[in-house]
Amino acid sequence: MIHFVGAGPGAPDLITLRGKKFLEEADVIIYAGSLVNPQLLDYAREGCQVHNSAEMTLEEVLAVMKEAEAAGLTTVRLHTGDPSLYGAIREQMDALEEAGISFDYCPGVSSFSGAAAALNLEYTLPDVSQSVVITRMAGRTPVPEKESIESFAAHHATMVIFLSTGMLQELSLRLIAGGYSADTPAAIVYKATWEDEKALVCTVGTLAETAARNNITKTALMIIGDAVSHSHYQRSELYNPAFATEFRPASRMPEDSGK
Ligand code: SAH
Repeated sequence: MIHFVGAGPGAPDLITLRGKKFLEEADVIIYAGSLVNPQLLDYAREGCQVHNSAEMTLEEVLAVMKEAEAAGLTTVRLHTGDPSLYGAIREQMDALEEAGISFDYCPGVSSFSGAAAALNLEYTLPDVSQSVVITRMAGRTPVPEKESIESFAAHHATMVIFLSTGMLQELSLRLIAGGYSADTPAAIVYKATWEDEKALVCTVGTLAETAARNNITKTALMIIGDAVSHSHYQRSELYNPAFATEFRPASRMPEDSGK
């Protein structure tokens, strides 16, 4: 049995209870050593076999899984954040399906949630943005033409940009070409929820210089949009005393809502 597990964004207590249990019971752990906090390996039992996938190819990862399976062992494949985002899990799952090896999948807290926590942000502020665009600049992995930064920027929704810390000058230019002004609020969150986390508020036009000034070259998310500054927004309807919900009747007037 293989358990795909989301490790969370960094802090070792931000793995789920289920993920931690899988780690504690595993015979073999294959972890993404480039980003997973090695402190999570402290949950492993003594004698557990540990492999760092940062130094392995897909074929090598699969070979370890198949060998473990043949020996009747339980394997945890530990991915950073939530495995569904840039996790390269589908190719592993397809190979396991083909080999007739069963697996399951335990979600994790993504770094984009960790970054919001670092900045006390609500990405979806009423009247500001009700959508979050999660994307990246093209790197070795291409991004489809229809998903250009410019085309997403045109929506002025909240954007969270992964895997692009080394390309911030170009990112700024493309965000501006897409319709954001240079003074649109932005933030860089480096190693969200790790002990050396840095959360820096800047603007679309100053992303590159902010990263350079703080020696940030990788492991960061860029957050773009007015949700970062939260200088104007509407209060929620969900908690508005004038509106009833499925769980709560409407109060008479907001002023009467009781203190
Ligand atoms: N599945 C992961 C993302 C893996 S892609 C998740 O859900 O978070 C790797 C990229 O994620 C990094 O290049 C960086 O952009 C971002 N990232 C991962 N962990 C991070 C963290 N703790 N803080 C900021 N960015 C992080």
